[in-house]
Amino acid sequence: MATYYNNETILFLNGEYIKAADAKTDLYSQSLHYGYSVFEGIRSYKTANGDTKIFKAEEHFERLKNSAIALNLPWHWTIEELITATYEVLERNNLQDAYIRPVVFAPANMSFVQNTESHITIQAWEMQPFLGEKLLRVMTSSFQRPNPKAFMLQAKAAGHYVNSILASQEAKAKGFDEALLTDMNGNVAEGPGANMFYEKDGRLFTPAAGHILMGITRATVLEICSELDIPVEEKMITTEELKNADAAFFCGTAAEIIGWESYDDLPFNKQWGDSVGKLIQQAYKHKVIEKEFKPI
Ligand code: PMP
Repeated sequence: MATYYNNETILFLNGEYIKAADAKTDLYSQSLHYGYSVFEGIRSYKTANGDTKIFKAEEHFERLKNSAIALNLPWHWTIEELITATYEVLERNNLQDAYIRPVVFAPANMSFVQNTESHITIQAWEMQPFLGEKLLRVMTSSFQRPNPKAFMLQAKAAGHYVNSILASQEAKAKGFDEALLTDMNGNVAEGPGANMFYEKDGRLFTPAAGHILMGITRATVLEICSELDIPVEEKMITTEELKNADAAFFCGTAAEIIGWESYDDLPFNKQWGDSVGKLIQQAYKHKVIEKEFKPI
């Protein structure tokens, strides 16, 4: 198992900076018992000029706030104070290239009744950028994303991740690297923790809103497409059309941009190195460290 903290690590808990080793939580929390909490996955990078920069900080904390509101978890903070607290956590732990995990969670409550207060923690640990250069062998999961009428799917809620864990573990047990989940209608949705795009005839396609988490990296890819004049379309995608794709990739804060080697054991028409996704990956790598990108 990975190590996320040591005896010196500091985290933020309800307005205080305390040692992770000393931090306590309530084992009677509604969050632990029912998966009723919301969180974010954020990255900070050492930029080209040496500063530490949280990538898309406002977007992530806005989504955290909207996730909490969607689930009726009381929200007590401003976006600004949480961003300031996150920079403080990074500084106190001497981190630049880091993964940041804020969690808003519920107090002790065994009933389903709404709470009057929430707790917040912000944790961070070192994460090198662009670990995943290895291409992924992806399989269609036997698990589908939940019916959007069963959950507030636009929220990044802890409980949704039981679905992600099942799908990811199934894929690995079958010898693949990652799962691709369909939606309740059998159309392409997303990975367990990332959105996807595929390429066909020089155009990119990605599932439209409705059955997916609206990823901040997905929005960044759309931003890059507009900057580089790459045609891109958000639409309903079938697993059959994906089998005829020229290339495909996942995108997410942790995964960044990561190409697929094959889909359900079928190789793609293009080498990853020649794909539009590779170009997007280069542009993304530059963007997060605030370095100008000039495609050749
Ligand atoms: N879909 C799911 C299910 C996720 O967990 C994530 C990771 N937060 C994403 C998509 C990508 O979102 P983002 O780019 O905001 O990290």
